[in-house]
Amino acid sequence: MMQKLHYFFRSLRNQGQAEICPNCGQDVYAIVDRKYLVTKLLKCLNCRLSFRYPRDTKEFLNDFYQSEYKANYSKETLNITDLPADGDLIKLMETNFPNKRNHAPCIHALLKTYSARVLDYGCSWGYSEHHLKMAGYDAEGFEISRSRAEFGKKINVPIHYLHKTVRNDLDLIISSHTIKYLPVISEFIRFSSEKLKTDGIFMAFCPNGSPEYRNCEPDIFHVNWGFLHPNYLDIEFAVETFKRNPYLILTGDLSYDVDTLFDWNDYSNSSVRSVRVKNF
Ligand SMILES: [Zn+2]
Repeated sequence: MMQKLHYFFRSLRNQGQAEICPNCGQDVYAIVDRKYLVTKLLKCLNCRLSFRYPRDTKEFLNDFYQSEYKANYSKETLNITDLPADGDLIKLMETNFPNKRNHAPCIHALLKTYSARVLDYGCSWGYSEHHLKMAGYDAEGFEISRSRAEFGKKINVPIHYLHKTVRNDLDLIISSHTIKYLPVISEFIRFSSEKLKTDGIFMAFCPNGSPEYRNCEPDIFHVNWGFLHPNYLDIEFAVETFKRNPYLILTGDLSYDVDTLFDWNDYSNSSVRSVRVKNF
């Protein structure tokens, strides 16, 4: 409740903020939705990103993710930000963190190999890299929270908290439910393009902000943007952002059919929420 009150008063104070897109800097937009009297979801008519107004500063978000952030969304992702007790770790490592989502099958479906260099961007404390390492991948992580990044040492996975220390020539960057938090998505895409090999794959999971989804689930659509989720991506944004690259977007929930991913021929855009990019 206190967090919501702080958010309300912060948004009230930021009402004078320029109504410009945090991704492309343009000020042409349409109003998509409203909340709490003082916040709006705007859709940029240039790059097509839907974003929350007013926005929080990079500095605020950096401090927030170092200290206050907790993410408990569902049974499956429960406590992704809570660090396990030392006494529980040996058992969890032996069983390969069975209560956490494992993306190794999705990555294998796209790469067709378990021999590859992979970065998990926004990896929290490293359980997902542990999954990837157990599958055979040469995996590293990136996490803005230094305490969670440091925790990776306890389970023997390297986690970077600075962009400059991340290695080059990656085969794949996976970002699971991280894009929706970023203050500037274009910076993350530029970083990814620098770190990936020429034919590397950029793979992102995020909530569906498409008008079609809003028609089906208007209440969930309304709930899914706000304080913690300032960005709301949709197919239009992906098409605009990756227009010079092949991409695949899968809608539906997080249990993807790996056969669909395996059979993807680089040029399908039939149904989407993951994105593959070459040479972007
Ligand atoms: Zn824009």
